[in-house]
Parts: sequence; C-alpha cells; structure tokens
Amino acid sequence: MSSIAFIGLGNMGAPMALNLVKAGHSLTVFDLVPAAVKGLTDAGAKAAASAAEAVKGAEVVISMLPASKHVEGLYLGEDLLGKIPSSALVIECSTIAPDSARKVAQAAEVRGITMIDAPVSGGTGGAAAGTLTFIVGGQAEALERARPVLEKMGKNIFHAGPAGAGQVAKICNNMLLGILMAGTSEALALGVANGLDPKVLSDIIAKSSGRNWATELYNPWPGVMEHTPASKGYAGGFGVDLMLKDLGLAAEAALSARASIPLGELARNLYSLHSAGGSGRLDFSSIVNLVKREQD
Ligand code: NAD
Repeated sequence: MSSIAFIGLGNMGAPMALNLVKAGHSLTVFDLVPAAVKGLTDAGAKAAASAAEAVKGAEVVISMLPASKHVEGLYLGEDLLGKIPSSALVIECSTIAPDSARKVAQAAEVRGITMIDAPVSGGTGGAAAGTLTFIVGGQAEALERARPVLEKMGKNIFHAGPAGAGQVAKICNNMLLGILMAGTSEALALGVANGLDPKVLSDIIAKSSGRNWATELYNPWPGVMEHTPASKGYAGGFGVDLMLKDLGLAAEAALSARASIPLGELARNLYSLHSAGGSGRLDFSSIVNLVKREQD
C-alpha cells in the first residue's frame, strides 16, 4: 500500500480519494477549502495544512484541480515540484490544456520526477463508484507504475500517447459530450413543447438511434432520473463553467491545428451564454434551461 498525497477534493477529487482510503492506502489530503477535507478525515485520511506538507514523504502525488492556471500555479508557481520527493510518481488528473500538461511534466522531468497526465471521464457517479475512465499521457512505464492506484478509482485505463496526449483525447471527448448534452436538451424540450411526457420520450430515445450518455445515465430533464443533478436542482455534478473551460480548450486545440469544429464552437457559445446568465456553478445539464419553456 502506498503513501499518497491527494490535492483538490472537489466534486471529483473527494470521491476518488475516498476510494483510495477504502482500498487501504495511507492518504494525506489538502484542499484550499478546509470544509472539503472533512469527509476524507472522517474516513481515516490525514489532513495537511498545505500542499507542501501533504507531499512530504509521499510515494504518489495525485492532483484534481479545476483548470490549467491552478495546476501550473501549484506545481510551478508554488514550486510544489521542488518539495516532492524525486522518487515519487505524480498523477495529474485535472482536465487542462495539453501545453500546460507538457510544461509541468517537463519541469518535473528536469527534477527527476515522473509525471503523467491522467484526466478522467465518468462524472461524479463514476468517481464514487470507482468506475472512471483514465486517459493517460506520458511514458508507458510511468503508466504501469500508476496502474495499481488508478485501478482503485477506475475501470478503464487508456494510454493515449506521450505527455499531453491524455488531455487531447479528453478534450475531444468533452467537446462531444457538450454537444450531446445540448442536443439532447433541445430534443427533449421540443418533445415536451409538443405535448410529450419527458420520461416517455427519454425512454424512447434511450432505445433508439438518438441514444447517448445523457439519455442513458445523465438525463438533463428534472425528475426523469432519480440521482442526476437535474433532479437535485442541478447541484454538484460537472459545472457549466468547467464545461465552458473544456470547450475553450477544444477551440484552442482547433486553432493551433487549423481544425474545424463548427458544432464545438456553437456549443461553446451556448454554454457561455448560459454561464453569463448566472448558471456557471450549476451542473452542465442545466443547459436544458436555455431551451425549456418556463411552464414545462
Ligand atoms: P471542483 O471545482 O468541484 O473541485 C476542485 C477543487 O480543487 C476545489 O475543492 C478547490 O477548492 C480545489 N483547489 C483549487 N485550487 C487548489 C489548490 N491550489 N490547492 C488545493 N486545492 C485546490 O471541480 P471538479 O468537478 O472536482 O473537477 C476537477 C477537474 O476534473 C476539472 O478539471 C474538471 O474539468 C475535471 N472533471 C470533472 C468532472 C465532473 O463530473 N465534475 C468529470 C471529469 C473531469
């Protein structure tokens, strides 16, 4: 069992860290928001007063932060890399720009520290159930070192390529997810506006050619599925602003490769409009509110 430092205990990090504690690993945790560590310390993890304290003597360091600026700020700005033992393995799970992932991985390499980017897919439900998909960028040997730890938090582990490749694959996936959630919302709103029951329509789509992750597991319409953010006032889950960040990363990747992403750009504008209307912190499935009639 390893001594693991886990930094960033939000909607995803907390349930991921909890699965490592349950698997018998010794965890030291840190989050900027003190209340975020409570669930972990109740389960037996040690709370550190800072990220630097958390990584002292760690064999594995895992981070799950919102965006590139937080990851670069932590590892380079606060020079956490200077405090991590050179024998440690760093598993960076946040969804960030591929360039940021490469920059931090290179800085780690200079210090003799092995680092992989390992963004995840599967949402908060997958994080709690330990069924996440890990999409890894970095050296194959580093992934093999990480595998026993990743297996306690996820079910599928893919090697996308060298440093930053995990992020590229994750960004492509999330661009598609953003489009699918907006499209699913539009289809449900159209059906309801024409007199259909949202549950009946969702059941039909889930067994027809329009089915997708949203209709199977994460329906955006309130009350259609019991445990989704839509049925809990769009609390928790995957924030609109995080989806907006990922669609922005897709736009940057498209610009730098001269790729066309017309639907991705449209989706980015939809989530941007939704965020500007005050919904940035709600779950991204609340995008349905852009197209849903008040009385429905
Ligand atoms: P979140 O905002 O709920 O959690 C982020 C946590 O990081 C917060 O608790 C915050 O206080 C903490 N934090 C920020 N800077 C820190 C620092 N310097 N030191 C310590 N803690 C710090 O976000 P989330 O939903 O858990 O998502 C985390 C990452 O995972 C994002 O990159 C997101 O895009 C990605 N992701 C999220 C989901 C999802 O369904 N929520 C799914 C897949 C991937």
